[in-house]
Amino acid sequence: MMKKVERTQQNIKRCLCLECPSYSMLCRLKNFEKNKNRTDEALQSHTHYEKMFCAFEKSNCIHANKGCLCRSCQNFKQYGLENCTYCTHTGGGACQV
Ligand code: SF4
Ligand code: SF4
Repeated sequence: MMKKVERTQQNIKRCLCLECPSYSMLCRLKNFEKNKNRTDEALQSHTHYEKMFCAFEKSNCIHANKGCLCRSCQNFKQYGLENCTYCTHTGGGACQV
């Protein structure tokens, strides 16, 4: 069953978005400051973050899907996620087969 992905540092460490081909170098550079580690408490008050998009809304920077690593992510398994491409669609879109 699908569960809500908890906004914790532990889960953020598992996220593969920063290694994903969809996460462009320009977006990496642009979001370097924003992506600095936040405390678990601070993360609860964010609706936007530029990684772990399954727990937040979509990215402001990634606009093209060039492949998605979500299905290889530990959070995908642990939280029973069914979607992919959370960076381009809030709540995710269908995984490519
Ligand atoms: S949500 Fe999927 S497509 Fe988007 S950056 Fe993360 S792994 Fe890549
Ligand atoms: S399932 Fe995708 S968006 Fe969510 S933490 Fe893993 S790689 Fe990031």
